[in-house]
Amino acid sequence: MDEAVKVTADEFISFLVEKCSGSKCAGCGGESFKTISSAEHGAWLFSVDTTNAPGFHLPTYAINCANCGWVRHHVAFRVEDWVKKQREKLTKLSPEAGSDD
Ligand SMILES: [Zn+2]
Repeated sequence: MDEAVKVTADEFISFLVEKCSGSKCAGCGGESFKTISSAEHGAWLFSVDTTNAPGFHLPTYAINCANCGWVRHHVAFRVEDWVKKQREKLTKLSPEAGSDD
């Protein structure tokens, strides 16, 4: 299992811009969304238990419509995989930033 990736609100927004820019709210057609996040914790990681078996759960990140509040979840591992790749690209662009030497 990969170590936990603490996804910031800005990283989650960047993911959404790349993957589904221009999408509209399924509830009202609105085009403005807010991340469900805080400065202290970044993008909030939700974990929904399933009823199939104990211990089965689906971690997600979420946004909500700025007009009607419709909540939209994105599966966490898709967001986190993307964030890890973006961080690796940034480290390659500026190797000093990723080194302790
Ligand atoms: Zn809406």
